[in-house]
Amino acid sequence: MRWLAAAALLLTACAAAEAPAQSEPAAPIAQPEAPAPQAAAPRDLAFRCAGAFTQGGIAVCQGAPGSDVRIEGESVGQIDANGWIVVGFNREAPPQLTIEAVHAGATTRQAIQIAPREFDIQRVDGLPQQTVTPTDPAVQARIAREAALKQIGFASQAPMTGFLDGFIVPVEGGRVSGRWGNQRILNGTPSTPHFGYDIAVPTGTPIRAPAAGVVTLANPDMHYEGGLVFIDHGQGLITMYLHMSRLDVAVGDVVTQGQILGAVGASGRATGPHLCWRMRWNGRQLDPSVAVQGLATARAELLR
Ligand SMILES: [Zn+2]
Repeated sequence: MRWLAAAALLLTACAAAEAPAQSEPAAPIAQPEAPAPQAAAPRDLAFRCAGAFTQGGIAVCQGAPGSDVRIEGESVGQIDANGWIVVGFNREAPPQLTIEAVHAGATTRQAIQIAPREFDIQRVDGLPQQTVTPTDPAVQARIAREAALKQIGFASQAPMTGFLDGFIVPVEGGRVSGRWGNQRILNGTPSTPHFGYDIAVPTGTPIRAPAAGVVTLANPDMHYEGGLVFIDHGQGLITMYLHMSRLDVAVGDVVTQGQILGAVGASGRATGPHLCWRMRWNGRQLDPSVAVQGLATARAELLR
């Protein structure tokens, strides 16, 4: 029947729930040594950013090492010893933002225009209600434990600059089966937006690190996400890989761009094999497909 085929197509997209933010992360992951300052340090102390200035987008900025960087007045981190910081813009970012770098009492401001995006509404019906709103206390307890694990993974702030590599797409081929930012209505109830970029590829397809980083979570069996890996590409820019059938990395592993992390699967709350690729920075959900282009732009403009 046609509707069943349509439902199956939609369900190839994953429906993993986003854990609520917690204010107190647990013990941090052991972090690699900070790199020694290199030749790629900025030529001057000017503060400038390049990348994808759009909702869900990402940019790289350079400026005076040690500067405190603020977006709309909120401190989001410090420029590293080589003069770099990565910043991101969430789904609800307004059309205009001010980024500031504060160093030795001096403030440099950059006003940026954020391109708005349109997001689809995605209806998924016929999901077992227990997977949408679990009421079983044992399941609720498991979800809470796993949320704590994820908070540890998100809290990483690796002193690395994998984000300067530019990102590659982690799987070859396939088709996009779920776009980032879609508003989802699960069994008739509005849910959190879908913060993954879904690529439908067969189970067993290798997943490669899009850039260098350190593994901050590697768990083969999460309730929603199934096999799940997080990588910190530096400064807490975390990419996530959901529904994996096999994990080839462990927490603390330092990976290089292109290194195999494991394989695509359909584990957790997914009904078809696909990679659900996610990105997060400073509590903001970013669109990894936009990051690929944004980091390429940043490289061309800031690293030449
Ligand atoms: Zn997804």
